Amino acid sequence: MTNIECDVAIIGAGTAGLSAERSARRAGAKTLLIDDKFAGTTCASVGCMPSKLLLAAAKAAHGVRSASEFGVVTSGVVIEGKQVMDRVRRLRDEFVADTLKSIDKIRGDSKLRGFARFRDATTLEVDGTKVSAKAIIIATGSTPSVPDTFKGLDNVLTNETVFELLDLPSSLAVIGAGPLGLELAQAFSRLGVDVEVFDEGKRLAGLKDGHVTASLRAALEREMQIHTEVEIQAEAEGKTTVLSWSGQTNGKRTFSHVLVATGRPPNLKHLDLKATGLELDDHDIPVFDRTTMQCGRSSIFMAGDVDSDAPVLHEASAEGAIAGYSAAKFPLVKPSKRGPAFAVTFTDPVSAFIGKAPSDDTVVGQSDYADQGRAKVEAKNVGLVRLYADGSGRLTGAELATPAGDHLAHLLAWAMEDGQTAMQLLDRPFYHPTYEEGLRSALREICDATELAFGDDRDMGSAPGV
Ligand SMILES: Cc1cc2nc3c(=O)[nH]c(=O)nc-3n(C[C@H](O)[C@H](O)[C@H](O)COP(=O)(O)OP(=O)(O)OC[C@H]3O[C@@H](n4cnc5c(N)ncnc54)[C@H](O)[C@@H]3O)c2cc1C
Repeated sequence: MTNIECDVAIIGAGTAGLSAERSARRAGAKTLLIDDKFAGTTCASVGCMPSKLLLAAAKAAHGVRSASEFGVVTSGVVIEGKQVMDRVRRLRDEFVADTLKSIDKIRGDSKLRGFARFRDATTLEVDGTKVSAKAIIIATGSTPSVPDTFKGLDNVLTNETVFELLDLPSSLAVIGAGPLGLELAQAFSRLGVDVEVFDEGKRLAGLKDGHVTASLRAALEREMQIHTEVEIQAEAEGKTTVLSWSGQTNGKRTFSHVLVATGRPPNLKHLDLKATGLELDDHDIPVFDRTTMQCGRSSIFMAGDVDSDAPVLHEASAEGAIAGYSAAKFPLVKPSKRGPAFAVTFTDPVSAFIGKAPSDDTVVGQSDYADQGRAKVEAKNVGLVRLYADGSGRLTGAELATPAGDHLAHLLAWAMEDGQTAMQLLDRPFYHPTYEEGLRSALREICDATELAFGDDRDMGSAPGV
């Protein structure tokens, strides 16, 4: 058996693995990047980018349909499904090609194609090659799960197959109202597909705040039906699927396609983790420290979706950088600072959560975007922001569903990372008329509740007209 020796072996050439390899190499380690396909990252091929391309087409269609609100009269919208899907794939392939270019830049002897399995804590077997490493990083990502109810049906899609559709489906049941399910549901719905969403729970887009969830739900339900807290049965009928559901709502109908978006469990099953002796949690994921990405005190590190901690791209990249550096310096492992939790769902309105969920003594401030100036100008006046702060007014978290919510969420995440109080943020200039101004009423409510004085003569925040 061929034997390769290196300082740091990285399993998985996705966003996390590429970031880990770069970081370990820069820290002076001899690296080996292992991947079974080297086919491009999940983000570029079947994740962030194709889903945003589909949403962009949907936004264009929605813009035309909504134009009459502004007195702009169009003679109807024709959606050419094949052209929509062609563009999604064409641009998706460009994004994939970009990620492949960055893999090409890595020296040939620092890459190995094959499926890795652990033999012990410092040894891997990769399709017949033995790899001995001082430290190993697991960055193997995640794969969509398909519940038994939907297994064996012809027309079941996941995020790994949906972007390969040559044309738009005529009807679509989306199973799962998380970020992935809702983004694709709204995209297809705006492209003229008859969509209904089903979920056994009651949360939408991973939000925990009931007020923000209700606001998001009301906005989305203008366009498609959402059934939460329902149990679903599915059976094939020719090439279609008949869904029956019961719970909060009851019904039965036929769909041409079913998109399953019920979660993406980590790719750990086939790694033979038993051979490592690592301590596993209740979900069989190695116990790790999110400030070092180290598993226990071992020479094994984790990064990206595989650790199931924060399955979004910037976290995969940040975790990769931390894991790469920690692995290169092992056993001298130092903690790194992590930013606040921060996740965005690109529906319209955009929803996001940042930082910590509220506790009993959290101070809450709220801004309603139904009457917000800029939102009214753009005919996008729906949604809600709820900001959370501690007793000193320091921002600790937020949930929102608003127009331009991705931009507001960035502003809030950066403010929280800097440890800012509501008053400090309120003291910053807010250009008029912007969506950002809408945050002012929530910030003022926190200042009032924490009895912090603030100058009020610049108060034009959420007033509809000034
Ligand atoms: C539809 C969808 C939309 C998304 N939208 C967004 C978004 O808008 N914004 C955002 O921030 N995030 C988004 N995400 C999440 C984001 O895509 C992921 O967080 C990120 O891609 C995870 O990267 P990763 O490196 O952990 O995994 P991956 O990119 O999946 O990389 C894992 C790699 O490991 C390889 N591998 C696995 N097992 C082995 C093995 N045993 N041996 C060798 N190789 C192996 C795989 O082939 C793969 O190449 C989205 C995800 C999906 C599915």
